[in-house]
Amino acid sequence: MSHFKKLRQQMIDEQLKARGLHDQTVLNALGKVPREAFTPADLIGSAYRDSPLPIEENQTISQPYIVALMTAALELKPDHRVLEVGTGSGYAAAVLGEICENVYTIERHKTLADTARARLKETGYTNVQVKHGDGTLGWVEQAPFDAIIVAAGGPEVPQTLKEQLAIGGRMVIPVGQSLNLQKLVRVRRISKDEYKTEDLGDVRFVPLVGAAGWQEEGNERS
Ligand code: SAH
Repeated sequence: MSHFKKLRQQMIDEQLKARGLHDQTVLNALGKVPREAFTPADLIGSAYRDSPLPIEENQTISQPYIVALMTAALELKPDHRVLEVGTGSGYAAAVLGEICENVYTIERHKTLADTARARLKETGYTNVQVKHGDGTLGWVEQAPFDAIIVAAGGPEVPQTLKEQLAIGGRMVIPVGQSLNLQKLVRVRRISKDEYKTEDLGDVRFVPLVGAAGWQEEGNERS
C-alpha cells in the first residue's frame, strides 16, 4: 500500500470511525480522494493530519472530520445536484464529486478558484464546476439544488441560498454572530415556504464574506 493510501486509511479509522462517523458513502468518498493533491506543497507531509491546514489567501482546507460530518448531514444520493460555497483548496468539492454526478462550487478568491479548478481537473473530477464569485448569491442558472454546503461562517443563513434549495433539499452551514465560533446548522426545505432548522454543534470556520455574509475585512455589517 502506498504511503498516502496508508495515511488515508488511518484517517478513516482514527479520525472518522473513532468519532462515530459510519456513513459508508461518506467513508468511501474520503477513502478515495487524494487529500495530498489539494494540500499546499510545503504541507504535504501533514495532508492527513487531524486538523485544518492553512492555504493561500489566509484561508484553510477544512479538517477531514468536519468535511465528513457536513457531507454526511447532506444525505447525498448520486443523482443529487450539489452546491458548495467556499471551494478553498477544492478538497471538499472532490469529496462531493465522488458521491454526486453534478457538483457546483463557488470561491470568492480568484487565485483559489483557479488553483482548485486545476487540481480537480488533474485528479479527474470533471463533474465538478468551479466558479469565481460571491457564493452567498448562489448559482441561479444551476438551481435548484438538492444539497448546499457552506464552508465559511456567516451571521445568518442567506435567504438567496434558501430559495435555491429544492423542496426536500438540505443546506449545511455554520452561522453565528461571532467571527470565530459558529453553530453548524442543517436547514431543510419542507415546502415552498417552510424550513426546518437543526443544530449540529459548535464549529470554527473562516468568515463567509459577501452580500449575505460579513463585509470585507471581517467587520460586522453596518
Ligand atoms: N471547502 C474548502 C474549505 C475552504 S475554507 C476546502 O475543502 O478546502 C472556506 C472558503 O470559503 C475560503 O476559501 C473563502 O475564501 C471562501 N469564501 C468565503 N466567503 C465566500 C463567499 N461569499 N463566496 C465564495 N467563497 C467564499
